[in-house]
Amino acid sequence: MTETDCIFCKIIAGELPSTKIYENDTTLAFMDIGPIAKGHVLVVPKKHREMITDTEPEILAGIMTVTKMVSQAQIDGMNADGVNITQANGAVAGQVVPHLHFHVIPRFKDDGVDFNWQAQNYSDNEEMIEFAEKIKKEFRQNDLKR
Ligand code: AMP
Ligand code: ZN
Repeated sequence: MTETDCIFCKIIAGELPSTKIYENDTTLAFMDIGPIAKGHVLVVPKKHREMITDTEPEILAGIMTVTKMVSQAQIDGMNADGVNITQANGAVAGQVVPHLHFHVIPRFKDDGVDFNWQAQNYSDNEEMIEFAEKIKKEFRQNDLKR
């Protein structure tokens, strides 16, 4: 999908309707039309970026600031007891709209919302350390590139 047929780019450009709740120069927050809980908000960068790994740290910082504002507003304005923030990168991770978005979902005691998160096990501590090493070595390489 290119920027031209991206539904969130069209929302940002005002070519598709949306219920906006906040915007600044770089970030837009609007209501999700298929809420997992009422009050579910999406926070997106105004520039088309597909995944978190494609997105500049400064843009992400702006998104995270707005995500915090929305979370606080759900707690204060809707009397939410808590908030889930979730975000998918890539179809395999469940990303349907390929324009970076953070879901901000208000939560209430006994609301029945279920993310179906099932914990698995490592075979032993060594296996967990092997995975940790695969990730950690990339930090060192990426640090050199920046
Ligand atoms: P994801 O599965 O993480 O890519 O989430 C995409 C989200 O976008 C879903 O929660 C949809 O309900 C939401 N969505 C899709 N189209 C629109 C739209 N036109 N306006 C608001 N939310 C939308
Ligand atoms: Zn887009």
